[in-house]
Amino acid sequence: MSVLHGGSVLLSGGMVTTATQSRLAAVRFADGRIVEIGDLTPKPGEAVVDCSECLVLPGGIETHSHLDLEAAGTVTADDFATGTRSALAGGTTTVLDFATQFHGESLMEGVRRWHEKARGKAVTDYGFHLAMTQWRTEFADEMAEVVAAGVTSFKMYMAYRDSMMVDDDEIYAALSASSRAGATIGFHCENGLVIDALVREELDLGHTGAFYHQRTRPPALEREALGRLSMIAGLLDAQHYIVHLSAGETIDEVRRARQRGSKVVAETCPQYLLLDDSLYGTAESDGNDELEVRQYVMSPPLRAPENLDALWSGLADGDIQFVGTDHCSFNLHGQKDQATDFARIPNGAPGIELRFSLLYTYGVAAERISVERFVAVTAENAARYFGLYPRKGTLLPGSDADIVVYDPRPRWTVSHDQLHDNVDHTPYEGRQIQGRVRDVFLRGQHVVRDGVLADDLARGEFVACGPPDSDIR
Ligand SMILES: [Zn+2]
Repeated sequence: MSVLHGGSVLLSGGMVTTATQSRLAAVRFADGRIVEIGDLTPKPGEAVVDCSECLVLPGGIETHSHLDLEAAGTVTADDFATGTRSALAGGTTTVLDFATQFHGESLMEGVRRWHEKARGKAVTDYGFHLAMTQWRTEFADEMAEVVAAGVTSFKMYMAYRDSMMVDDDEIYAALSASSRAGATIGFHCENGLVIDALVREELDLGHTGAFYHQRTRPPALEREALGRLSMIAGLLDAQHYIVHLSAGETIDEVRRARQRGSKVVAETCPQYLLLDDSLYGTAESDGNDELEVRQYVMSPPLRAPENLDALWSGLADGDIQFVGTDHCSFNLHGQKDQATDFARIPNGAPGIELRFSLLYTYGVAAERISVERFVAVTAENAARYFGLYPRKGTLLPGSDADIVVYDPRPRWTVSHDQLHDNVDHTPYEGRQIQGRVRDVFLRGQHVVRDGVLADDLARGEFVACGPPDSDIR
């Protein structure tokens, strides 16, 4: 079967599923693109892949990763080589990573550096958002250049004073400029100034353990930041989105904003859907317990259990439009264990490989979301919002042949040694999973076969994003 080198291929007998429908059909692709879908019979000499009993899905789009990112005096364990391998094994064929403009740099310097990090290393297709760690007046003009270079989504942080946090006037100026440039901005919504005050209070009391991380970042500070952002964006009718929404009360704000006609959309992450704040243990944790707790130090932090149901409902009802992992990988040994207090622990958790299987297991198999909704939140909505549709995120004649064959029958247990990332743990260790990613095609190339990554992986290509379409649910 010469799948790796062109020729027409027929995926037969599977349940072809998009965000709007599921039907038993065959998919034919050639030269990297889908040719036709329907009741098709093999042509003479055509390669046929039997997909009976399996779902045939659009390749996943990861909306939120931090690969090869310098932060907290160190660098993430995963770069574009290992991070995208891990993504691909898990059914993600396009990764949108956060390029970052550091203080003093121009916007295009940030974009160019991320191209250098990804080129020749990525084994999925990839695009960028651009995080801006400050606002300078010349950025208003530079934004147009960035958009012309295929990066149409920016990011600003409302937390992390002295490194990345921006003020309200900077948010206003950036939204005004991004609207004119036809772009959107994703916001890390947490009130950084109040967080700093809470951190000082805890440290003054001698509270240094990882348990205190969440105590300094309550959900009210996420809700407040989103509410403030939403009022500022409303003055401009500007496209914007909230990255890694973590709390039920924040969904209420998003819903109200959308009812007012705000062009806001929301992303959440598997960790906020599946893990809760009981994992932070108790104030008395130390030794091994302390190290265990440090793996869950991420911002926003894990929330109280009742938030999980609220997030699943929000995902099902259309108040949350897509799921990214915020894959930000720091080793427990040598990175997270080096910090002298909770405020210095590198923030973040890995998850890029398990997004598909966790969402399938705890969403579709658990009957919280339909399989069509699964496709919407793992692929199609992101493709629409970041201007990649219908090339990515769906299965249509003409779309890239980025296809996942998911076998819903096997059951297995997550164990970190089976994953393909470069970090030393997974927060999902021991989780039961329903189904597995059996085959993955990236632009028609058979990159995962029977659950195994090909030796000769295709080279990932940069994908230019287009204008944001917030008319998604
Ligand atoms: Zn992030």
